[in-house]
Amino acid sequence: MPEIIEGERRCFPMRGVSQPRREDVLNLPRVSISTHPVIQHKMTALRDKRTSAPEFYRLVKEIGALLAYEATATLYLERKPIETPLEPMVGQRLAGGIGITPILRAGLGLAEGFREVISEAQVWHLGLRRDESTLQTLEYYNRLPHQIDLQVAYAVDPMLATGGSAIDAINALKKRGIPRLSYVCILAAPYGLLKLSQTHPDIDIYVAALDESLNEQGYILPGLGDAGDRQFGTF
Ligand code: URA
Repeated sequence: MPEIIEGERRCFPMRGVSQPRREDVLNLPRVSISTHPVIQHKMTALRDKRTSAPEFYRLVKEIGALLAYEATATLYLERKPIETPLEPMVGQRLAGGIGITPILRAGLGLAEGFREVISEAQVWHLGLRRDESTLQTLEYYNRLPHQIDLQVAYAVDPMLATGGSAIDAINALKKRGIPRLSYVCILAAPYGLLKLSQTHPDIDIYVAALDESLNEQGYILPGLGDAGDRQFGTF
């Protein structure tokens, strides 16, 4: 009966959906999967189900700062003449501003980590909610400014699962005409990573770790559970 099939799709939206393997997405263009030992060390604590919400939030921020360090390594610089206490010199500064777009609410901790590295960055909140039954993304909050003069914006969200909200966030940022866009996440599933990379081949993607697959409900395996609930203690 159609109702049963519809009900099943609502509970298990990934049931029967074929997924790429981890090996299939290891060498995608413009995708960087961190090999930093400190990130991997923190990831293990993050995944552990015994890690408390305050500790989890602190780890998300710390991993966010390390990812920010990796993701900003290719930013453009411009010359800046200054005077030191001893003599004039020509230093360098970032050529243009930086925007951070946390995808609410799970992206908040990651954005805080970014701000610890780039305190002058602007933060534009974007509220995207996943309908758990259909995995479709709904935009409920958008504070992206209309006048934008930046060299890069980073959309940040800890979990790249099916890729739906990531694709929508980049679509929203592209409408503002920012010259360079990046997507930064902590954990990616091969399915979402491939979808995002194929839909937006012109952006850079930074990932702390690549996992195996999505379960039938769209959660990343082995994963870490719900990144929003674990940060904010809402179980
Ligand atoms: N969002 C989460 O918080 N966790 C997942 O595993 C997938 C999406």
